Amino acid sequence: MARKYNWRRVKKHFSYDIAQAAKALNCSVATIRNWTKEGLYCMADQKPFLFDGRDLREFARQKSAAQKWSMPETNAPWNYFLCFRCKGYRKPYLLMADYIPATPVKGRLSSICRTCDGAIMKFCRTDQISKIRTTLDVTHQSGSTTLTDSESS
Ligand SMILES: [Zn+2]
Repeated sequence: MARKYNWRRVKKHFSYDIAQAAKALNCSVATIRNWTKEGLYCMADQKPFLFDGRDLREFARQKSAAQKWSMPETNAPWNYFLCFRCKGYRKPYLLMADYIPATPVKGRLSSICRTCDGAIMKFCRTDQISKIRTTLDVTHQSGSTTLTDSESS
């Protein structure tokens, strides 16, 4: 069901297990599980599975904004990214994007907004890349780009 999420309640520098994530966003555990299928990265190499607060926050923010802004008529919706600076669905500058894998099956597409030059990104699955490549020039970034927070004591 379409709804908005209070993504500001998700702390960036905090890891969440799935129950904590659902509680912070006041949604069901099933919703969070669906998001992981849509590309939300979870650290699955340990139990319980943990979500990086930054990823979770950004995902919930995109989910909320997607309901506020309408996608232009298109048969290639993958060309559009949500731009939080100029607020709407925008195409990337020069139709170029970088794909940054988070796991073998999913990652992030990142680019620059053609309208305002702001940074834009969205989550996607690796198996969507070939379709996306039909219209966007996607550079595959290899190697681990996992950011580490030096917050442990
Ligand atoms: Zn923009």
